[in-house]
Amino acid sequence: MVEQITIPSHVLAAIEEHQRHCSDPMAAFFYDLPALEAHGRAVKAALPENVELYYAIKANSESAIIDTLASVVDGLELSSGGEIERACNSATPLPWVLSGPGKLDSDMRHAMLQGVEAFHIESLGEIARLQVIAASLQRIQPVLLRINPTLPDELSSRLKMAGTATPFGIDEAQLEEAVAAVDSAPNLSLRGFHIHAMSHQKSVQRHQRLLSFYLQRWPKWRALAREPKQITQLNVGGGIGVNYLHPAQQFDWPGLCRTLGQQLEAMPEPPRVRFEIGRFLSAFCGYYVVEVMDTKISHGEDFLVCRGGTHQFRLPVAQAHDHPVIHLPRYAHPSNQAEYQPWTIVGQLCTPKDVLSRHQPLRGVAIGDLLVLPLAGAYGYNISHADFLCHPRPEQIFVGRASERPAPEASHVQSELVE
Ligand SMILES: *Cc1c(COP(=O)(O)O)cnc(C)c1O
Repeated sequence: MVEQITIPSHVLAAIEEHQRHCSDPMAAFFYDLPALEAHGRAVKAALPENVELYYAIKANSESAIIDTLASVVDGLELSSGGEIERACNSATPLPWVLSGPGKLDSDMRHAMLQGVEAFHIESLGEIARLQVIAASLQRIQPVLLRINPTLPDELSSRLKMAGTATPFGIDEAQLEEAVAAVDSAPNLSLRGFHIHAMSHQKSVQRHQRLLSFYLQRWPKWRALAREPKQITQLNVGGGIGVNYLHPAQQFDWPGLCRTLGQQLEAMPEPPRVRFEIGRFLSAFCGYYVVEVMDTKISHGEDFLVCRGGTHQFRLPVAQAHDHPVIHLPRYAHPSNQAEYQPWTIVGQLCTPKDVLSRHQPLRGVAIGDLLVLPLAGAYGYNISHADFLCHPRPEQIFVGRASERPAPEASHVQSELVE
């Protein structure tokens, strides 16, 4: 029972159409491309002047998603050779950067040949490797150093990417050494710094404090360089959270942007700030739809056994949450008279871990009905172990491609009134 989310009518129509054509019970992903575009535009429109928006494609790197966001964002953030292929095959080429630990020499070389804008350097060793490759290609390669900052206690708790021991970035204590290494590498040109410290950030206030901390440190970091004037870019990463359990209460993105704009205005030499966001851009457009195949009671608990499962949609298990579920009855039956009853929704895997959601109050559920799991557009299918048990892979259906566009749906960027 998810009262806050209504499924747009063009998505509902696509779901019904798909079910009609399935000879077996269905499990499939549906992505609402007009809604994705409208949401992306709202995210972008809220940004302060001169702040850029990149899309971190690891959240969802399907070509229809990248192509849809290409008309909205300023560029792409990539982390592998495979992602370089996807970005370069996109209908609208955008600038892109390459991040991530464990970059292959072959990927770094390939990136340079394909026109990478900048590398985000993750370690001292990477500086040396990148210099050799840039020299062999006789080019001067712009780079940003990824920093793992030392954060004040109230900011570092609960961070997973920085402010603690991680394989990502360069400790602030080693930054001086790293800057000197880039400055003395003849084929590398330092342009700025990159920090991606968070994922799942749901608190605007905490994120504001994090960004303030970066801006406060910025002059110090910049002053480490031989030519501080050339150091202009501050990439603040992504990590804006999605509230899966209370879909009506989403991150106050316009509020964050307003504060950031004020802070940048107050700085004598503000950096050019860039966000590289994944989850908060693509999560809202996706729906994972499964069909009820069986109902059973086991030791007092009621189960709905559905087509598909966590091998196709691992997100609820990865987040250790009970995903919201919307019930779509197949036939109009007198479900209004039925009582709400808590169901545990499971898939087809032979493991007790294959649970999409527990204790979901639904009424009048019948075999053949569909259950829709919303907010499935980021880190959904692509983080799942789809080959486990050799079930066929689910179809991914992209609703409303550019050529057949209905009016865009409302965005999930909240207006000022909501919070
Ligand atoms: C994953 C990742 C992102 C995007 O994170 P979201 O939480 O999806 O916004 C951005 N930058 C880097 C370096 C990442 O690894």
